Amino acid sequence: MIKENKAQEFIQMEDQYGAHNYHPLPVVLTKGEGVFVWDVNGKKYYDFLSAYSAVNQGHCHPRIINAMTEQAKILTLTSRAFYNNMLGKYEKFITSYFGYDKVLPINTGVEAVETALKLARKWAYKVKGVPINQAKIIFASGNFHGRTLGVISASVDPDATNDFGPFLPGIEVIPYNDTEALAQALKDPNTAGFIVEPIQGEAGVYVPDEDYLPKAYALCQENNALFIADEVQTGIARTGRLLACDYYDFKPDILILGKALSGGAMPVSAVLADDEIMLTIKPGEHGSTFGGNPLACAVGIEALQVIQDENLAENAYQLGILFREKMNELIAKTDLVLKVRGKGLLNAIIINDSEDSDTAWRICLALRDNGLLAKPTHGNIIRFAPPLVMTEEQILDCANIISKTILEFEK
Ligand code: PLP
Repeated sequence: MIKENKAQEFIQMEDQYGAHNYHPLPVVLTKGEGVFVWDVNGKKYYDFLSAYSAVNQGHCHPRIINAMTEQAKILTLTSRAFYNNMLGKYEKFITSYFGYDKVLPINTGVEAVETALKLARKWAYKVKGVPINQAKIIFASGNFHGRTLGVISASVDPDATNDFGPFLPGIEVIPYNDTEALAQALKDPNTAGFIVEPIQGEAGVYVPDEDYLPKAYALCQENNALFIADEVQTGIARTGRLLACDYYDFKPDILILGKALSGGAMPVSAVLADDEIMLTIKPGEHGSTFGGNPLACAVGIEALQVIQDENLAENAYQLGILFREKMNELIAKTDLVLKVRGKGLLNAIIINDSEDSDTAWRICLALRDNGLLAKPTHGNIIRFAPPLVMTEEQILDCANIISKTILEFEK
C-alpha cells in the first residue's frame, strides 16, 4: 500500500483550499523524469497517462527544459503589442513542420479550439458567403474539446453541461463515426465546418472505422465546408504518426494542436490553416496576451524537434502494436477485461462492468500500488497513454504490471 502519511497532508491542503473540480487518484507527485514519476514518499511509478498526452516527449526532457530555461533568462513575454525575435522563427518552423501557410499561436487546447471555431465562422461569412449570424458548426457526439462555454455548448456529457446553460447557438451534434449523418448535416448551406477528434480520447479512446475520416473530409470538400481536426490529444506522434490524420491521404483545413506542443513544460497551443482561412481574421479581432510568447516559441520549436530527432511517432507505432498484443493475451486469461482498443500509444481497456461502477477506479488504485499510474475515463474504461520515450523493455514491464494487477484483482 502507498504510505498515506506524507501524501495525506498535500491531499488535505488541496481539498481545503482548492476548488473541487477534479477527483485525482490519491498519489502526490513531486518529480518526473522520462517515463517515470516519483511521489512524496519516494515511490517510483511508470506514468501511464502523460498528463493526458501532454508529456509525449517524457517528463522534463533535458533539451526542452534547456531551451526553456535559456529563453527564460532572456525574454519571456512581450505581448503582441510588439514584435519579438522568437515568434517569426517559431511560426516559420511550425508551418513548415505541419505544411500550412500560417499558424495562430495560443495557449491552452480549448483556446485553440475556440480560435478554430471563430476562424471557421469568419471564413463562412467572409469567403463562403453565409448570411450573417447564420453559420453552423457540426460536432460529433461524445466529443471533448475542453471546458469553455462555447465548447461545452456542443457537449453531450451532462457533467460538462449541467447548470452551465444557456448555451451557444449555431451548433449541430451528429453521431460520431457516421458519415451518413454528416452528409445530411452538410446539406445545410450555412455550414461553416465540421470539427472532429480523429480518435475520441476523453470519451474512452473510440477509434472510428478506417474509412470514416477520409470520407468525412471528402464530404466537407464536396459541400464547401471546413474539416477541422482537433488533434490536441491525438497529435504530435501520440497515435503512431505525427498526426492521427496522417494515417490517411488528406490534410485538415484547420488543424488544432496543444498539449505535447510544449512537451508538458507550459501551455502552448496552435491553430494551423492556409491563407484563405487564416487571413480572414484581422488585427484586433482575436488574440491572447500570452499567445506566441517568446518562451512558448523556444519551447515549441524544441519540443517538435525532439519528436522528430527521437523518432517518437515510429516508436509509438511499434510499441502500440506490442502493447495491444500483450493486452489481448491478458484478455484471453480473464473475464474482467473485454477489449483493448487504440492506435499507437493511445489505448484503453474496457472493463467488464457497468459504466457507473467503480471497478476501473479500484483497478487504478491497485495499479498505483504496483507502480503504474493510470486513470479511468469512465467507470469501466481505463486509458493508457504513456510517454512516447518508452523502450520496448519498459512497455513489456508495464504490460506485465497491468496483467498481474488485473489477474489478481477481486471485483
Ligand atoms: N481537445 C481535445 C481533443 C482534448 O483532449 C482536450 C483536453 O483533454 C482539449 C481539447 C482541451 O485542452 P486543454 O485542457 O489544454 O484546454
